[in-house]
Amino acid sequence: MSVSPARLNAISAANNFRVTNTLAFKESHSAALYGKNVFNEKVMQARLPKAVYKALKKTIDSGSPLDPGMADIVATTIKDWALEHGATHYAHIFQPLTGLTAEKHDSFLEPDGKGGAIAEFSGKQLSQGEPDASSFPSGGMRATFEARGYTVWDVSSACYLVENANGVTLCIPTAFVSWTGDVLDTKTPILRSMKSLDVQARRILKLFGHTNIPYIAATAGPEQEYFLIDRNFFLARPDLMSAGRTLFGARPPKGQEFEDQYFGVIPDRVLAYMHECEAELYALGVPVKTRHNEVAPSQYELAPIYETANVAADHQQLIMTTLRKVARKYGMECLLHEKPFAGVNGSGKHLNWSLGNSVQGNLLEPGHTPHENMQFLVFCAAVIRAVHRHGGLLRALVASASNDHRLGANEAPPAIISVYLGDQLADIFEQLKKGKAKSSKKAGLMHLGVDVLPPLAKDAGDRNRTSPFAFTGNKFEFRAVASNQSIGGPLAALNTIATESLDYVATKLEKAVKTKKLEDAVAELLTEIATEHGAVIFNGNGYSEEWHKEAVQKRGLLNLRTTVDAVPVITSKTTVAAYEKYGILSKRELEARRDIMLEQYVKAVNVEANIVVEMVNTKYLPASVRYQTELATNAAALKAAGIKPDTAALEKISALIVELQGSITKLIQIRSHHVDGLQAEAEHYCHEVLPQLKAIRVIVDSLEGIVADDTWPVPTYEEILFIK
Ligand code: ADP
Ligand code: MG
Repeated sequence: MSVSPARLNAISAANNFRVTNTLAFKESHSAALYGKNVFNEKVMQARLPKAVYKALKKTIDSGSPLDPGMADIVATTIKDWALEHGATHYAHIFQPLTGLTAEKHDSFLEPDGKGGAIAEFSGKQLSQGEPDASSFPSGGMRATFEARGYTVWDVSSACYLVENANGVTLCIPTAFVSWTGDVLDTKTPILRSMKSLDVQARRILKLFGHTNIPYIAATAGPEQEYFLIDRNFFLARPDLMSAGRTLFGARPPKGQEFEDQYFGVIPDRVLAYMHECEAELYALGVPVKTRHNEVAPSQYELAPIYETANVAADHQQLIMTTLRKVARKYGMECLLHEKPFAGVNGSGKHLNWSLGNSVQGNLLEPGHTPHENMQFLVFCAAVIRAVHRHGGLLRALVASASNDHRLGANEAPPAIISVYLGDQLADIFEQLKKGKAKSSKKAGLMHLGVDVLPPLAKDAGDRNRTSPFAFTGNKFEFRAVASNQSIGGPLAALNTIATESLDYVATKLEKAVKTKKLEDAVAELLTEIATEHGAVIFNGNGYSEEWHKEAVQKRGLLNLRTTVDAVPVITSKTTVAAYEKYGILSKRELEARRDIMLEQYVKAVNVEANIVVEMVNTKYLPASVRYQTELATNAAALKAAGIKPDTAALEKISALIVELQGSITKLIQIRSHHVDGLQAEAEHYCHEVLPQLKAIRVIVDSLEGIVADDTWPVPTYEEILFIK
């Protein structure tokens, strides 16, 4: 017998892959490519009547409503532009609560009544669509017979063209709501929360004497981690194909222990792939900036330059789609799952967040002497207060069956949400507890001892990779977000909880300045916040056991280890109060979101259970039994020849086979257990089904270490992670 053909094919295909695509960056500069397929401001200005352009720009910049009368003119202009670029169809793009992107395509052509057809596109078709909503998750808000759903054009996110080998589609970013007005997507809460954030942030700036205050936007820059593996290996692994992660696989002899992958030289095929992803994303106006190898073998990262939050969220979806799509062209599969491989790091998405505008700039910029920068301290303190009050919510919104494998596993932040401020700011907040802050620790210069190296300007604080929510210079970085998820939920939450805190702060200060100087009012407020919410500030090692104890026992922070622990916070009193107060989502809509997350959790683990049963019954057991037979035959032959056989391996494999069969029977039993209610069902999957999947994996992984390699039915970790 020889190595299974699937494995052999995969190895040789991976080995023989040659990049044939050639991009012409050498001939035409990437700047010429940038935004080529976007109906951006430049195109708008060139093509729209002046008054219409101005109105549209005002809507984009400040979220003010667009005069419906203008929509027809905009639609015609967009259509002409799209047709010139070869478009045949238009599609409303929306983000339902699956976390994915959905699209419905319509042709521009309409019969002209004389046997021909003309291209038509009205303002109404641009502004509103009506996909059947019945098959999208609604968390029980809508019965299937109430199928009507609407997509509504988000004027603030630019339309773009998606090119395919055979045609071009005009894509229109939209929000998605039901006929009853319930929000069914991730975009609407972002837009609503951005608007309320602007209102509250503006009140603070007014207190500090600003008069010219343009729209204050939340900004977001999500860093995306992902794995890239040869597609042949992917296709030979049903677990990767259907669950997105390997449910089996013994540790390879070498993992990530040499730390030789992080920032290492990017393999040729991967770099070619990255170039092409970037070219596609440039054309779509997505400002991708950074690329590098990540910690785990075959893991990489891409980071864009930050943008206005809702545009960043749309672009994030495009990034994920593009990463997946382009990988196939290079014979690879892009894995966005949070934990595709046990034993090496998983993937996350660091969500960098701030707020600001073109006049006052980034409102989280501390300057050189933050202790004197009262405006900054007020914004920063408001965020700290928000995270302290709503840490559980932030944890809940990144919860999923897949992210549970990563959070708290000493590779990603723990499930306890705390804030890292760095030395300088943490020191200032300590001072604030006792009264006014009087000094800022200096950042300074570092001299490297040789003259060819110029003095290095040091940051005021070091980095801390273990913190789930870190201040990184002039923005906060929420690091617990899952690599596969839409950033919409966490982003809307950050905006909403910051809104609530800014409202609190503004109300206090507005009242206080009637009787005292602003400076004193601010000092008092900062002392109050530092004292009452300082418990959330933690600069130490978030992975340590002491921290887990201290956080929960001394500081009263939540440690919500799993999805089933965390998700109920979505409908807690504090969450509902904040979301309802600012009109972001109603209690009913929050309940729906909670239920969808629980449903998705159950479905994900259930699919994994299905795969485990299938792979064990059709792959691992047959392979093990074959090898067992081979050993048994050999033992019998030896015995016949008068040689005493060593049956240790035969006995071990036989015992494992029996154990494996028994554990599969047990899994089937556990799963058939009927449990009432979504929360209880999710808990059943978390506490009963998942541990059984783990137990089965242990047996199969032991078999992998015994069974002859030429009978082993699927590619090994070593092959998948190291052949590129
Ligand atoms: P690091 O590895 O330190 O996290 P990166 O350069 O990889 O740094 O990523 C930083 C991310 O933060 C980028 O996506 C960047 O655009 C984003 N970012 C920078 N400034 C802001 C800001 N004001 N608001 C939101 N995101 C920001
Ligand atoms: Mg980062």
